[in-house]
Amino acid sequence: MSIIRKVKAVERVFAQLEVETKALSESTGMHCLAGCGRCCMKPDIHANPLEFLPLAFSWFIEGKADEKLVELSSNTSGICLVFKPVHLSDKNGSCGDYVHRGLICRLFGYATSRDKNGERKLVTCNLIKTEQPAAYQAAIDMISNKDEMPSFINYYQRLSQIDFRLANQMLPINEAIKVALHEVMKHYSYRRLPRKRKAS
Ligand code: SF4
Repeated sequence: MSIIRKVKAVERVFAQLEVETKALSESTGMHCLAGCGRCCMKPDIHANPLEFLPLAFSWFIEGKADEKLVELSSNTSGICLVFKPVHLSDKNGSCGDYVHRGLICRLFGYATSRDKNGERKLVTCNLIKTEQPAAYQAAIDMISNKDEMPSFINYYQRLSQIDFRLANQMLPINEAIKVALHEVMKHYSYRRLPRKRKAS
């Protein structure tokens, strides 16, 4: 499958997740706090290269691939390169490329995984738990009622179906972005460059 087709396939998965997380947010009232980027400030976020293929592709067609590779290689903080803090020492900030954020960024807060006993649990942040207790409880009730909710395993499996190799390398987030960028650059090293896509 070509890089463009993979990017489009990943974007379709993201679009489906967007519908599900919006529905969850509307039915529970759960929502991320405006300007809060604390989950992005963790230095131990892991992701796979495929979920960052749309981001890497967009950088490539904008002519930023080499510059971003240098930035990724010199980033020693472990914090996602895409994160843009309000101030350098600030825990508030936001994603610098929200449209192209990865799957982990879309699932965290709004999706379930299985605990060691196989029970579904909501993977969300402490701020949502403590500052939106009614909404959090509504989500827990949905799990108890066996209602449909986005699930980590389900969405990562969907990515595996697009490209098993790229979807099954769990790496520190900046490494995952770097591998995605290399993948795009390698693909176009001996192919005609894509035309710039229209902004959607
Ligand atoms: S891509 Fe954006 S949302 Fe995801 S961790 Fe990086 S800054 Fe946060």
